[in-house]
Amino acid sequence: MNKKDCKIVQDLLPNYVDNLTQKETNDFLEDHLKNCEECSKKLDAMKAEIKTEKNINNKKEVDYMKKIRKKLGTLKIIGTSILTLIILTIVFVICNYFFIRYDGKIDKSGNMTEEEILSLLEKGRENKNYYLEVISLTKYKEADDIFYSDIQSEYFAKDGVILNISNGGKIYYNYNTNEEIFCSSEINNEYKTAYVTTLPEDNNYKGLDFLNGNNIDSKNYFYRYIGEKEINGKKYIVVDMKSKPENEDFGLLEKVISNLFSNRVFINKDTGIIEKTEMFVFTNFTFKKLVEYYNIQLNCITDGDVERPNLSGYVVLESERAN
Ligand SMILES: [Zn+2]
Repeated sequence: MNKKDCKIVQDLLPNYVDNLTQKETNDFLEDHLKNCEECSKKLDAMKAEIKTEKNINNKKEVDYMKKIRKKLGTLKIIGTSILTLIILTIVFVICNYFFIRYDGKIDKSGNMTEEEILSLLEKGRENKNYYLEVISLTKYKEADDIFYSDIQSEYFAKDGVILNISNGGKIYYNYNTNEEIFCSSEINNEYKTAYVTTLPEDNNYKGLDFLNGNNIDSKNYFYRYIGEKEINGKKYIVVDMKSKPENEDFGLLEKVISNLFSNRVFINKDTGIIEKTEMFVFTNFTFKKLVEYYNIQLNCITDGDVERPNLSGYVVLESERAN
């Protein structure tokens, strides 16, 4: 064993371990290592050291990657959650819309033109003797004002004289004398007030607006036949009333909105009288349906039912029409 060789071999070992030595050098080194215990030990120690170093480096790398993965994972979870929430909200709103618009089974086999719908409504409006009760079951809150709640309102109509009684008071409309009297049910400063005004001489306004009248407006609405429906043995024509644009060009967005929020009316097929209306609003990410039912009885009103209110006990004021 040549001690001089050992020195050379040990000098070359670091390069050998890193695979930086030539084949001839390797042959020489391996030949020497076979026969030299000291150099072999040095080589083993060197290899062990490298292995530990590698392990430490690897561990550092792994820890770093783990940190990054953890961060990315958190971001991914947040992103996925937000996306899921958005998708769920959209799905909820869409489902809610179709749920709200669904009116049960409607027979769509027939058809009616807009003109036929309008003439059916006009036929219903021709009744001059009726009792009409408005029943609104929808509670709907907009800001702090209760916009729709259990509105109870009754109309008694006979030959152009209509008496409306509601929670707010009593309104007497006489289309023969063009007199309107509003008797407030509230007591102001310990006395009740009544307002007497003149009805506008607008022919379109003439009488009985309360029966279909407000819903006959081909200037502002399109009428679309949806189908027929039977409720409690009565047959109804179901019609959507969509707002018309103020000017001619109707953009896509306006079309969509007009379709989404079209009012729906249920017209009694025999009498031509609307007995139910549905309005749609969107609030707090949900669509709401505001439903009004009309309980109508024809030809049951006497002159006594539509008498001019007795104004004794009221402070009577002349006033401008408040509409
Ligand atoms: Zn040696």
